[in-house]
Amino acid sequence: MKERKMKAAYLTGICKVELRDAPEPKLEKPTDVLIDVEVVGMCGSDIHYYRTGRIGEMVVQYPFIVGHEFSGRVLEVGDDVTNVKVGQRVAVDPLMWCQQCDQCRAGREHTCRNQVFLGCPGQVAGCLCERIVMPAASCFTVPDNVSPEQAALAEPFSIGIHTQRLGGEITGKRVGILGAGPIGLCTLASCKTQGVGKVYMTDLLPERVKFAKTFGADWVGNSQSQDVVAEIAKLEPLGLDVVFECAGKQETVDQGVELLAPGGKLVVVGIPEEERTSMIIANARRKEITFQNVRRQNRCVAPAVEMIASGTVQLDSMMTHHFSFDEIPQAFELVEGYKDGVIKAMINIKK
Ligand SMILES: [Zn+2]
Ligand SMILES: [Zn+2]
Repeated sequence: MKERKMKAAYLTGICKVELRDAPEPKLEKPTDVLIDVEVVGMCGSDIHYYRTGRIGEMVVQYPFIVGHEFSGRVLEVGDDVTNVKVGQRVAVDPLMWCQQCDQCRAGREHTCRNQVFLGCPGQVAGCLCERIVMPAASCFTVPDNVSPEQAALAEPFSIGIHTQRLGGEITGKRVGILGAGPIGLCTLASCKTQGVGKVYMTDLLPERVKFAKTFGADWVGNSQSQDVVAEIAKLEPLGLDVVFECAGKQETVDQGVELLAPGGKLVVVGIPEEERTSMIIANARRKEITFQNVRRQNRCVAPAVEMIASGTVQLDSMMTHHFSFDEIPQAFELVEGYKDGVIKAMINIKK
């Protein structure tokens, strides 16, 4: 039988993306689901691969399809699939875990020792294409009142939820969020659902600083043009209870340590381009700071869909730009250059 083809967007070199035909994926396991991709969100990590061809030791072998934030409609299911049905719309956890290892058995699927992540070089091709196969365990049904765009946004929002949860009890607490990109904003949205006390948020880009304020931060500052640590210290002389580092920079890790009150917690979700990050360990030690790393979004996609569906969070304003499939190269260029005040660019694969 002749192989069926679909459209896909391939990275073909540094800052190069090409639209080409690809073989259409097929169900392989009885637990697989074939999904008709509707909307894909562009992520900072896709841009890392586009710009530098790698994240740490993950190196792109060209040509390669990236993308891991998406929603779609179920086209076909394997014999053992019970949680989703043909025709249903789904939000997707881009992680595929083994369900066997010590981590999976302990409910830590996100640190599964045999994990495969969508659109991760050397693992599996991503979702910037028309159809894709995922394990049923990674698929979550979406109610009709949630749009395909909102369903795709459930992925980054689920990281915000997981990040916020790792920050511990934050009700009534003083919180810093360093970095007002999509993950910082999703963390903010999740903090608001928990009745956070006061949120101080910073970024380098003036448009993002402004956006963070409209998105609900109590105080915003530009760390390029202001001494944000000194200004926050004036308002909070005792320091902050939790700081979420959402920029992946050395400076923001340093700022986090400085901003925290003794006994505070630094939650690091930003992915740095450099291999090593350091901290002034004496300051961290004297304050007895807890250093918490964040990996992916354990079991948070379903709660993300629920909160979007119920209106508990309103994330639509984050989706500042919309592109069709043919405009994918322009979308990469825009997001890579942080142009036009872009927060989140969404690709409608059907257009
Ligand atoms: Zn992402
Ligand atoms: Zn596992």
